[in-house]
Amino acid sequence: MTSNTRVVVIGAGLAGVRLARRLGDLGTPALLVGDEEHPPYNRVLLAEVLAGRYAPEVIALPPPAGLLRTRVTGIDRAARTVACADGTSFAYGTLVLATGSNPVLPPLRGLFTPDHRLPEGVHAFRTLDDCLGLAGAVRPGARAVVIGGGLLGVSAARALAVRGAQVVLAQQAERLMERQLDPDASRLVLRHLTDLGVEVHTECRVRDVRCIAGAVRSVELADGYALDADLVVLACGVRPRTGLAEQAGLAVHQGVLVDDELRTSDPHIHAIGDCAQHGGTVYGLAAPALEQADALAALLAGDTGARYTGTRSLTRLTLTGSDSPFDLAAFGETEARPGDDVVRLADATRGTYRKVVVRDDRLVGGVLVGELGTVGALARAWEGAEPLPDDGPLLHLLTNDGGS
Ligand SMILES: Cc1cc2nc3c(=O)[nH]c(=O)nc-3n(C[C@H](O)[C@H](O)[C@H](O)COP(=O)(O)OP(=O)(O)OC[C@H]3O[C@@H](n4cnc5c(N)ncnc54)[C@H](O)[C@@H]3O)c2cc1C
Repeated sequence: MTSNTRVVVIGAGLAGVRLARRLGDLGTPALLVGDEEHPPYNRVLLAEVLAGRYAPEVIALPPPAGLLRTRVTGIDRAARTVACADGTSFAYGTLVLATGSNPVLPPLRGLFTPDHRLPEGVHAFRTLDDCLGLAGAVRPGARAVVIGGGLLGVSAARALAVRGAQVVLAQQAERLMERQLDPDASRLVLRHLTDLGVEVHTECRVRDVRCIAGAVRSVELADGYALDADLVVLACGVRPRTGLAEQAGLAVHQGVLVDDELRTSDPHIHAIGDCAQHGGTVYGLAAPALEQADALAALLAGDTGARYTGTRSLTRLTLTGSDSPFDLAAFGETEARPGDDVVRLADATRGTYRKVVVRDDRLVGGVLVGELGTVGALARAWEGAEPLPDDGPLLHLLTNDGGS
């Protein structure tokens, strides 16, 4: 089948769905092609589904018009068509890649079965299918090993512990969420997980997955110690999904390279979200994906002045699912350089921690754990990058919520 749909968007995740909906609102309907079986959903909330707090329907995104469920398998740039796994093909005037990321599968011995699948009990944590597979397998008392102590691994470990599993988290770096948090904030996350019964091993490298009859039985650490495991979660980061772009000969470094109009090296093809690399950055976060979708919708609907110039995005994590929700937010540089001003408020009893880093009268980063009342005001000060007012002590930054 061939049709002349003008804008074709590949990928029905956060970015693709937002773009298709915005274009619909602006009178420029798009055809959205997505390869997941489920109606589009908000990936950021998967841990809530795993924890049993939300049913899958609750995290559904508002459905876009014109969604086709199939996988795009190739792009013919000369003919301006895309081919799909179900045998259909479509002509496009403008093509948008919103293909997201793939989970990084670590180089562990025994990670794949002879027919190149993950052994039974070993799960990535990227899709609703991954999440439903894990939720179906976890039982109270099940022994779960989470490999990776970044945002994904911490969310997965907490969700599994809330479901009653005995969880061990193996983190290669020296602390949890080392990319976002300073050591003090990281310690609070560690304490939170430990209080839930999670056993956390830092500076701990897993080297082997041991299986019997195709099902995982244990993981072996680099020092030879073996952890029994009924379930293993791979939370070792993500990599932009760039296969289609590479096959089509588009410029790709880490992600698909795009300019301020979110155009790839082919002016008829754009890229947004986790698969795109803008200004040297692959964000891998929800807020930039949505901002890119909004900017591209405006451009494609005829606003020739619309541009995407980057996102100063803060990372927020809310770990709910039990009686004690645990919130954190981090942005920019959370560790000070010599000469920076640092303001820090810590309350060990309540498990709260707030810190900002100021350089040359500008806020350059901060981290808030457990007490997020000032996050709106801080985010605005950071995003605006304006000099801070010099009429009060810096402590105001952490205690004045600015009406947010
Ligand atoms: C468990 C989890 C928790 C997260 N928590 C946070 C958080 O707290 N804060 C935050 O900012 N970010 C978080 N993220 C990251 C956030 O989800 C992503 O940044 C965001 O989803 C990116 O949106 P996207 O549309 O670019 O990609 P995706 O949402 O991954 O969507 C891409 C879609 O394209 C489809 N696709 C790919 N190739 C094809 C093809 N050839 N044909 C058809 N369809 C295709 C994919 O199947 C997928 O459905 C989290 C991610 C996970 C997995």
